[in-house]
Amino acid sequence: MSDLSSLYQEMIIDHGRHPRNFHVLDNPTVEQAAHNPLCGDQLTVYCRLKDNYIESVSFQGSGCAISMASASMMTELLTGQSVASALTLAGVFEDLVTGQAVDLERPELAKLKVLAGVSAFPARVKCATLCWHAAKAMVSDAHETVSTE
Ligand code: ZN
Repeated sequence: MSDLSSLYQEMIIDHGRHPRNFHVLDNPTVEQAAHNPLCGDQLTVYCRLKDNYIESVSFQGSGCAISMASASMMTELLTGQSVASALTLAGVFEDLVTGQAVDLERPELAKLKVLAGVSAFPARVKCATLCWHAAKAMVSDAHETVSTE
């Protein structure tokens, strides 16, 4: 893991150790399990949707620091968003961690851009995007377990 040290910036470590919104949500309207067999990351994202808005979102599970940090940041970001902007954000985030050109000045990327370094480590991209795959499936009403494989 030592070659990944540049990935583990302060914020990632902090979110990985103390994930935000890390609990089962009360009365979720949707929940989505997701699994990244390559790394062993396994999480469930819970969401309370109301009138096409994400009223509340949380997650539980276990996995590497990247998957936990990414899910933690995602729950903070998605709370209060419309389903449409959640889907847009998922796309932007995927571009960010796969090294596509994205506008880093987008205010919603203020926190997420600490994960941009993941793009240099293709095997870690799936860790970072796992929670977003779950969120996308969840708000699109696809309830099969998400797997990165
Ligand atoms: Zn992982």
